[in-house]
Amino acid sequence: MFSKILIANRGEIAVRIIKTCRRMGIATVVVYSEADADSMAVEMADQTVFIGGAPASESYLVADKIVAAARETGAEAIHPGFGFLSENASFARRLEKEGIVFIGPNPHAIEAMGDKIESKKFATKANISVVPGHVGEIDDTAHAIKISEDIGYPVMIKASAGGGGKGIRVAWNQKDVEEGFPAVKAEAKSSFGDDRIFIEKFIESPRHIEIQVMGDKHGNVVHLFERECSIQRRNQKVIEEAPSPLLDEETRAAMGAQAVALAKAVNYDSAGTVEFVAGQDKSFFFLEMNTRLQVEHPVTELITGVDLVEQMIRSAYGEKLAFAQKDLAIKGWAIESRIYAEDPYRGFLPSIGRLVRYYPPQEGEIGEIIVRNDAGVREGDEISMFYDPMISKLSTWAPTRLAAIDAMGRALEDFHIEGLGQNIPFLAAVMDQERFRSGKLSTNYIKDEFPEGFLGTPPTDWQRDLVSAVACAMHRIVTARSAPQLLRDEWIVIAGHDKRLVRLSNGGAAYRVEYLNENRSLTLTDIDWRPGKHVFKGVLDGRAFTVAVKPAAEGFVIRHRATTLNVLVLTPRSAELHEKLPAKKAADTSKMILSPMPGLVVTLDVIPGQLVRAGEAVCVVEAMKMQNIIRAERDGTVKTVGAKAGDSVAADEVLVEFA
Ligand code: ADP
Ligand code: ADP
Ligand code: MG
Repeated sequence: MFSKILIANRGEIAVRIIKTCRRMGIATVVVYSEADADSMAVEMADQTVFIGGAPASESYLVADKIVAAARETGAEAIHPGFGFLSENASFARRLEKEGIVFIGPNPHAIEAMGDKIESKKFATKANISVVPGHVGEIDDTAHAIKISEDIGYPVMIKASAGGGGKGIRVAWNQKDVEEGFPAVKAEAKSSFGDDRIFIEKFIESPRHIEIQVMGDKHGNVVHLFERECSIQRRNQKVIEEAPSPLLDEETRAAMGAQAVALAKAVNYDSAGTVEFVAGQDKSFFFLEMNTRLQVEHPVTELITGVDLVEQMIRSAYGEKLAFAQKDLAIKGWAIESRIYAEDPYRGFLPSIGRLVRYYPPQEGEIGEIIVRNDAGVREGDEISMFYDPMISKLSTWAPTRLAAIDAMGRALEDFHIEGLGQNIPFLAAVMDQERFRSGKLSTNYIKDEFPEGFLGTPPTDWQRDLVSAVACAMHRIVTARSAPQLLRDEWIVIAGHDKRLVRLSNGGAAYRVEYLNENRSLTLTDIDWRPGKHVFKGVLDGRAFTVAVKPAAEGFVIRHRATTLNVLVLTPRSAELHEKLPAKKAADTSKMILSPMPGLVVTLDVIPGQLVRAGEAVCVVEAMKMQNIIRAERDGTVKTVGAKAGDSVAADEVLVEFA
């Protein structure tokens, strides 16, 4: 076996690979950029090599520096992780020449499959069902319109070199193609340095189902079943699971067989993923093959018990696969939630910053369930604008799908992050949705279920009880410390629109919470909280919970899963006074266009006096390498323009004000 491996990546995947190497007794070298000098991966690796500036083009993408680092440290092999150089055939070839082993497929396979146009040609030849469309390059907008008409709208415009959900746009009509074709071309050029575009039929409301394959250098290829990744925003996965609730044994076997056939056709010899879009009727069409380890590989590991990174290392070393297809079976169900530094309340826009607080849930086997958190960050670390905005990948396993979903809901409750926008409340909302629980998924899920965007969810009856009990308990604990003479048992609790009379008695470890007007009482036990803490844990009537709490003027802001409430705990007298206070009005921003996130203004071409129509693109702001078109929400005449191309803007900064 190799004695030393270099990891040409960063973040959670570098940490993930180090863990397997350690278990296998292999020493690790991590290369790092300026932005990652204090990272967890750098701390964990046996050796580290600095390779340059924060932009990937100065560090993680520079083959020369990575090869030099391997030479200098004597690493015999390089694991590229995903992203960066992982699907770069010339890098794999270069390593071959240098006598360093690439832990991934052979360069031929990368070439054949790494490019979407080429791989579709290949798949068609191998008799795999592909999405109908134009398998070839498209020169200009006129050509794109012609082809879209031939295919029939809606169509999808795609960058051949695309990945990570970038370089993709749906067009419903000619106007969309006119706007979308040049935009995708430009994005492809800037993100991938390759602006070849193709167009295919847009399958409406499909499901994304992919097959994990694993091959060796001896001609063996097996599949490790499927993952369903239909919960997406911006064509990018946020929640994945294995197996898929759609598939039956027959469809699973058919998809598996096609994936293996395609892999064998290119002598595939590592871990890879064959992606399909599937209709609700279980028809399926090949999308692309990812010739690398996939982000969501943990769910496959959890249901099969196979360590995919270990298998990649073994096959790269030349070992034969230790298992055949018949040795593999699906056990239980696994779900993965991608915890992103993005603001679900603002259209999932990137929200970078420092992890001021970071408490992940407890990992490991907990009774019948397993919790796994793949992270590459610690409290105090920064999620920078230079790389993927993922904070961690939280996975749960349980014997059944519903138990895995419940385990995920609880693990998300236990995940506390502060300092930047994060999508945990959104993920929790999905876990609680009947549609998700019933498995009726589609890639439109988020658009269907959150048509107005994510606004949090209204409290259930249990959550109403919960927040008032927690608020009373906190109020009591704080009062006992700061002003014991003011302690009392009965309080008016105002939570959102609710006002209730609550009696809290028997302090100490267990509280009795009585809702006096409703003649009900509950017990609150196992309280884990003290003033200053932002997480309150306890058990309410036998149900364990974790809520996020923040002191606010006259009360607390309490969040349980996707529900956030402002809660006031008042004496009857102050409740009366409170009622007389005029309600505060939010500032009127309807006459402004605000930047929805921090970023760099790429274009802002309107001028004072100009008439702008609702829906018109006014400004482009770039953040996290993503260009966001900001549109007017209503018609108006521009009064002032607050920024110009090249400016950095903060979230909520005024871009345009209407007269
Ligand atoms: P997956 O199907 O594994 O999510 P995609 O094909 O959607 O992969 O994305 C391509 C790969 O590029 C992913 O592994 C993703 O994590 C990675 N990636 C996307 N954006 C970035 C980035 N800014 N920096 C590094 N890696 C990225
Ligand atoms: P990437 O390389 O960014 O992963 P993919 O080609 O895999 O690009 O597409 C990403 C996602 O976009 C898919 O998971 C799917 O949800 C959606 N998608 C891609 N092609 C189509 C299509 N032809 N019809 C409908 N949805 C599609
Ligand atoms: Mg894909």
